[in-house]
Amino acid sequence: MARKVWAARLSILLLGGILIATTSRPGQRYLRALDVRRASDQILFGEESPFQGLLDSDGLQTELIVHTPLNPFENPLNDGELTHTVQRGTTIASLWAALRGTPKATTDFAKAFMQHDKKVGSLKAGEKLEVKRRDGEIVEVRRQLSFGDTMIVEGNSQDGYSSRIEKARLSLRSRKASGTIQSSLVSAANAQDIPYSVVDDFVDLLGERIEFDKDLQPGDTFTIVFEEKVNEDGETVDVGAIASASLRIRGQMYAVVRDVTPDGKVRYFNEKGQIPTKGFLRYPVQYTRISSMFSKARFHPVLKVNRPHHGVDFSAPVGTPVRSVGEGTVIFAGYSPSAGNMVRIAHGQRYTTEYMHLSKITKGLRKGSHIDRGSVIGAVGSTGLSSGPHLHYGLFDKGKYVDPMRAKIASDSGPAKAPPAVMAALDAMRREHEAVAMASPLGRKPNA
Ligand SMILES: [Zn+2]
Repeated sequence: MARKVWAARLSILLLGGILIATTSRPGQRYLRALDVRRASDQILFGEESPFQGLLDSDGLQTELIVHTPLNPFENPLNDGELTHTVQRGTTIASLWAALRGTPKATTDFAKAFMQHDKKVGSLKAGEKLEVKRRDGEIVEVRRQLSFGDTMIVEGNSQDGYSSRIEKARLSLRSRKASGTIQSSLVSAANAQDIPYSVVDDFVDLLGERIEFDKDLQPGDTFTIVFEEKVNEDGETVDVGAIASASLRIRGQMYAVVRDVTPDGKVRYFNEKGQIPTKGFLRYPVQYTRISSMFSKARFHPVLKVNRPHHGVDFSAPVGTPVRSVGEGTVIFAGYSPSAGNMVRIAHGQRYTTEYMHLSKITKGLRKGSHIDRGSVIGAVGSTGLSSGPHLHYGLFDKGKYVDPMRAKIASDSGPAKAPPAVMAALDAMRREHEAVAMASPLGRKPNA
């Protein structure tokens, strides 16, 4: 192709004083990054331009476009290592340009980068990348993933780029948190810096017997022992299972203690040293996702009539996962004009549950599907006759509506047979509750 001399075209926008020069030729377009410190520098694209050396001199079209600010490198083209902070709106291509990657390797790098992360543009503003340069080009980019894992993209423009995941070496650490409820469980847990996922597990473990929004009162105490996953730097990157948890409500202790059998089966004993038969999860959405709850006869905001309301409405954001409260078989999964997307599940002969207004039903779920307790059946939505995003959840005992927030379905199975370690843990928890309650003005009962 005959070489053409293109007239230089400059269109400049200033954002943080940092620009990228886009140079393009017929059939080729690539990005180069420039650090422009003063606006007056932009007109220096002549002989005196300090950037001249960075631009191809053969017939090219030069266009200055704004790019998000770069990390303040001293000299980004030097070999060595640097930390790059991702800016808002960064794509993988613009990242590569910002890092001064070899332009012709852009696609190759992007492919390697996305190999483990299909979501394009999932780079988060503020995340830090470790970049290594050698022989004038990028040979390694390290990105921190969740749970302490690292993604490493490595290679060079000659041989191409590939990526791999380096699994973090995590160790488990046990953490104990206890507190006294003053206004709510969630705020008490927040005060102790207990992660939401631990609160949700705690509620699921004890919720069979307790209705958290009604039964808890100021002065009630709780303890949770849970695993933390710790990386080599001693930082907590994730949480693991609850080892034991207990709650003392008006002097009565409810507890669970985790035990793993020699063949690896996990089971939780209750405060009596028994393994209760599995009842239902109290909440079909994770507890910490529920923003408010109301029930009983109510004014239906869409129908404008007061009607018996056979269910509990959970206000939660659209997309919040909805779980089956118990093991069962799907007897309906589909759309109805009033219920919207609905799933109805039979749990044995006696109980049925139903979930309405879903934004979606889990793919593949249909009449006859067997599901486990806690498996996700859909997501919170506002389909059908619904005034706003919420989950309508109903529980029926032999066809008759019962209040799911009051129902007690779990029962103890057989005599106590917990291992001595479990019994010892239960005793320790009892003593601890006494101590925590005594230490709190709210926990002290007049005649205790
Ligand atoms: Zn409802």
